[in-house]
Amino acid sequence: MTQNKSTSRVTGVNGNLVSVAFADAVTQNEVAYVMPEDGSRLKAEVIRVRGREADLQVFESTTGVKVGDPVEFTSQLLSVELGPGLLTQVYDGLQNPLPELAKQAGYFLKKGVYIYPLDQEKTWDYTPVAKVGDVLTASETVGTVPEGIFTHRIMVPFAWQGSWTITWTIEPGQYNIKTVVAKATDGTRERDITMTQTWPVKIPIKAYQDRLLPRDPLITQVRSIDTFFPVAKGGTFCTPGPFGAGKTVLQHALSQRSEVDVVIVAACGERAGEVVEILREFPHLEDPRTGRHLIDRTIIVCNTSSMPVAAREASIYTSVTLAEYYRQMGLHSLLLADSTSRWAQALREESGRLEEIPGEEAFPAYLESLVAGFYERAGLVQLKDGNLGSITICGAVSPAGGNFEEPVTQATLKVVGSFLALSRDRANARRYPAIHPLDSWSKYNSIVPEEKVSVARNLIRAGNDVDQMMKVVGEEGTPTSDFVTYLKSEFLDSVYLQQNTFDPIDSACGAQRQEYVFDKILEVINKTFDFPDKNEARSYFQNLRQSFIDWNYCPWQTDAFKEQEARIDNMLKEVR
Ligand code: ADP
Ligand code: MG
Repeated sequence: MTQNKSTSRVTGVNGNLVSVAFADAVTQNEVAYVMPEDGSRLKAEVIRVRGREADLQVFESTTGVKVGDPVEFTSQLLSVELGPGLLTQVYDGLQNPLPELAKQAGYFLKKGVYIYPLDQEKTWDYTPVAKVGDVLTASETVGTVPEGIFTHRIMVPFAWQGSWTITWTIEPGQYNIKTVVAKATDGTRERDITMTQTWPVKIPIKAYQDRLLPRDPLITQVRSIDTFFPVAKGGTFCTPGPFGAGKTVLQHALSQRSEVDVVIVAACGERAGEVVEILREFPHLEDPRTGRHLIDRTIIVCNTSSMPVAAREASIYTSVTLAEYYRQMGLHSLLLADSTSRWAQALREESGRLEEIPGEEAFPAYLESLVAGFYERAGLVQLKDGNLGSITICGAVSPAGGNFEEPVTQATLKVVGSFLALSRDRANARRYPAIHPLDSWSKYNSIVPEEKVSVARNLIRAGNDVDQMMKVVGEEGTPTSDFVTYLKSEFLDSVYLQQNTFDPIDSACGAQRQEYVFDKILEVINKTFDFPDKNEARSYFQNLRQSFIDWNYCPWQTDAFKEQEARIDNMLKEVR
């Protein structure tokens, strides 16, 4: 039977949802092109098949699409192109390079314009690794090219099943990504290997040996995270918080300071202005690790709230697939998604149009499983060559009014390993980062031994109790010893939990420094002060706090650092 899919026609349009009567077979999630009269080809994905009708979500504005317009099905799942040259790129959710698009189509993206994601002219310094006769399986290394500070592996395509014997390899040299660099046979047919391969975004890349439990901490250099609410390499965490609480600023700090190789920024559905700001700012950010630019080891995938919602969903899957690709090279990546709530809203809109039975707050009933499926793509893996690679996922959640009881926050906290609750009150008091020390939690191991951290946690709780009590009985009614507990917890908050994100020294507090400073703070916490009255206590702690803050601004292990430490030691000796 010959397939004549070109006779498929639009039967209905409802926003971005287009129903199509199809001629032959179509599959769930396959890509199709809707072709309105204006001559454009609008990319779409099959999201439901019912009898002879398919529902497509179109990744573009459907203005101009009419009943009767032809539709072409591709039999391909929504996929990304993988290969050298992904780093430094800025893509939309469908992997269109945005600066390129802007150049070709003006800043208002033209409908139906798609551009190949990688530079096809650029040449790469290719070194073959596999030799003729070598037997390889999917993801094993065929050759390498340098990409930025990394060795980019050209691998046997992940989709290739079984064993492949190399029959030919190219000489070392400068080649573009479409050059055939090797040939391999599985005994029945010979196939070409180039520097690129495609992969469907909704299917996790699992071409590794083993999945391991995350064990090592991912150092973010944010004290409140690493010491109190740690994140593991290959783990998951989220930063829920109301509008303006500092989620985006925190994610920026994480992109710059975290000890990872590759950073993937998924700017999903936030206001266009914010995203433009990211695009303007990011290329100039210095990479503390290399002294060069952070963008050199970053990929940005963005969809603003002004782009069609369907593309938001795509951007989440596109970004995690890119992270998986670099994980297969033995690299550690951090995926920052801002914000997963906008993604969930897109799902809600689609689900509404499909007239599905809604779950809580009209989100689709399968919201939880989609959220879980996204975070499950994080992980630490052992590759076939024994090396480790990881993806750590951080999702910002922006619940309306900062209400954590809503479905997206609830679905997220069920699956993440660390929950960094950003608080409106702390942000208003300019206590940044606004990670709330009582509402946040983590299941991962801290760089500081738990028995030490728990002393500090207990103090924060006790200090909070005294604070609440003082609001009722006033300072006069509070015993001096309780008052000192309160001062100690305020001290801990201002010199350790709070951190100046915009200061190059204070914002980068490495693991060693955290452990060192934390011990000094414990000395203060564990000391039984004997102040004659509350005023004395207050002024002593004011000075002590300032000395510690000044210390935070001294570069680690410099003379200034040691001198400031000596001053602090003297202050601690002064009082009994
Ligand atoms: P959100 O993404 O949660 O809506 P933002 O990250 O955009 O919030 O932060 C809103 C504003 O709050 C910022 O523009 C900045 O003025 C202030 N802010 C947030 N985090 C910090 C911080 N760590 N230090 C100083 N100011 C901050
Ligand atoms: Mg934000």
